[in-house]
Amino acid sequence: MKLHEYQAKELLARYGCAVPKNAGIATTPAEAKAAVEALGGRGVIKAQVHSGGRGKAGGIKVAKTPEEGETYADTILGMLLKTVQVPEGIVVEKVLIEEPVSIEKEYYLSIVPDRNTRRNVIILSEQGGMDIEEVAEAHPDAIIRLMIDPLEGVRDYELREAVAEANFAPASANKIVTFIRQLITAYNTSDAAMMEINPLAITSDGRVIAADAKIEIDDAAMFRHPEFAAYAEGNHEDALEAEAAKDDIAYVRLGGNVGVICNGAGLTMTTMDEVKRAGGEPANFLDVGGGAQAERVAKCLNLVLSDPNVKGVLINIFGGITRCDEVAKGVIAASQMIEIKVPIVVRLAGTNAKEGAEILASSNLISADTMQNAAEKIVSLVKAA
Ligand code: GDP
Ligand code: MN
Repeated sequence: MKLHEYQAKELLARYGCAVPKNAGIATTPAEAKAAVEALGGRGVIKAQVHSGGRGKAGGIKVAKTPEEGETYADTILGMLLKTVQVPEGIVVEKVLIEEPVSIEKEYYLSIVPDRNTRRNVIILSEQGGMDIEEVAEAHPDAIIRLMIDPLEGVRDYELREAVAEANFAPASANKIVTFIRQLITAYNTSDAAMMEINPLAITSDGRVIAADAKIEIDDAAMFRHPEFAAYAEGNHEDALEAEAAKDDIAYVRLGGNVGVICNGAGLTMTTMDEVKRAGGEPANFLDVGGGAQAERVAKCLNLVLSDPNVKGVLINIFGGITRCDEVAKGVIAASQMIEIKVPIVVRLAGTNAKEGAEILASSNLISADTMQNAAEKIVSLVKAA
């Protein structure tokens, strides 16, 4: 789960990591104006979306008066922020209003798991503020890595050496080492899968603070963190994905127009490949799971059809524990609940496939006997529409 910047900073502050003073979140220009006033008349207005590169995209502005804050918030709120990371854009619903800090130097600091060494690694770079991938490409030696031993942790001298090797200002070394220690504790305690501070700012008054913060919590550890439940709410970038998550349906929205419903992740991936091979673009990944009952299938079909981009649906089921007749009943039930305006191609194989086919025969759904055949049918129907 990704946290928004304001949530990430709230979490970091609990572990003692210095963050800029903030006046909270605003969803209206008037709230933004009041927030800038509360900060003493100046404030940074920052778009809260899950993407880096907001600054370059126009999602971060420094307001020198409350009125300016109001104007900036008016521009940023509701805008489709197109960043390098998310070129199709994300609509900004919230802005964070923070104390403007006078930044002397911008560094890069992160902790992420390193799969090769099976350790968490601290990454430091003097070239902060910009995309770390760019730095890695252009100046690979400007990136310093320090592995964290899972049993021993890191020693202070190792941190000091890494900070020196990264060419961080010696005058700030003590504060930076302290900051990294606190970040490690925050990372471990919250079962994070990534913590990135870019930039870690040295201010003109000598403070070391997180000017930006990105945090991802390991989804598999969420059960240990009831305190993050509030962050999970409304944290889905996509309303349909949020809806699916409520029912424990594995659903990922994609850019295409062919809705895909299958059982099992492997079959779903293969079916998506077949759609592509037939010249189509999948609109989503949806795995109904094993042993799906009619009601669940109906829910899934509803979900896929709620995406306005979907111009046709391919249902591909291999019945093992899942019974094809149950799936067929679900599809029929869904088609009675909602008006279906797009073609639906169904391919059923395995347990009770024959019974399933009989149930579907009386409907206006199109059946197919092989996966390739089904993919070709739906793609040509979508193209013809
Ligand atoms: P990102 O573009 O999404 O990574 O957002 P950041 O929070 O990293 O902001 C981008 C850039 O805006 C930073 O690298 C800073 O140069 C600048 N910036 C952000 N907050 C402040 C601030 O409080 N004061 C000043 N002077 N610059 C800021
Ligand atoms: Mn940043």
